[in-house]
Amino acid sequence: MLYGSFAGQFVRQPAGLRDHPALVLNADFRPLSYFPLSLWPWQEAIKAAFLDRVQIVAEYDEVVHSPSIAMRLPSVVVLRDYVKPARYPAFTRFNLFLRDEFACQYCGSRGEMTFDHVIPRSRGGRTTWENVVAACGPCNLRKASLTLRQAGMSLSRPPRRPDAVELQNKGRKFPPNFLHDSWMDFLYWDAELES
Ligand SMILES: [Zn+2]
Repeated sequence: MLYGSFAGQFVRQPAGLRDHPALVLNADFRPLSYFPLSLWPWQEAIKAAFLDRVQIVAEYDEVVHSPSIAMRLPSVVVLRDYVKPARYPAFTRFNLFLRDEFACQYCGSRGEMTFDHVIPRSRGGRTTWENVVAACGPCNLRKASLTLRQAGMSLSRPPRRPDAVELQNKGRKFPPNFLHDSWMDFLYWDAELES
């Protein structure tokens, strides 16, 4: 409760302090997550700093005031304790699209995506990393409940379960719209690291 009441003492200025998220780094100074990028609202970042769960690495110019303290909003914080990432990401809609880089695995188009069972469910195909791919509407319709061979279609790459590192690397290709200057030292959106 200490931090709750403390954070409550800060005067929230109307002009956009909400819009000053802090980039959250793991103890190894890498972002906890690339996609979605690990960001905390500034209030969370300040709470964590006062609880000594994070160290502030960089700050915004904007200042918040409590009755006794003025402090600049953290723009980058690093966790004191290393969070070990799961080796394999969860099989979710989002992660599957990310594995396939939001592109149809049949024709390569991007945009509205659906899922396609490579071996159709009606033929015993299961809903797994190895049997589900991102597909555009037209390709999904064309493939229907046919096998690849019957439909005369092929996949750009065989679907398989990605590990967490692989998905993180894919996430780097999809930077969010807003990136603060102070985050750049910790992010690598450059082409060099794209595989
Ligand atoms: Zn397609």
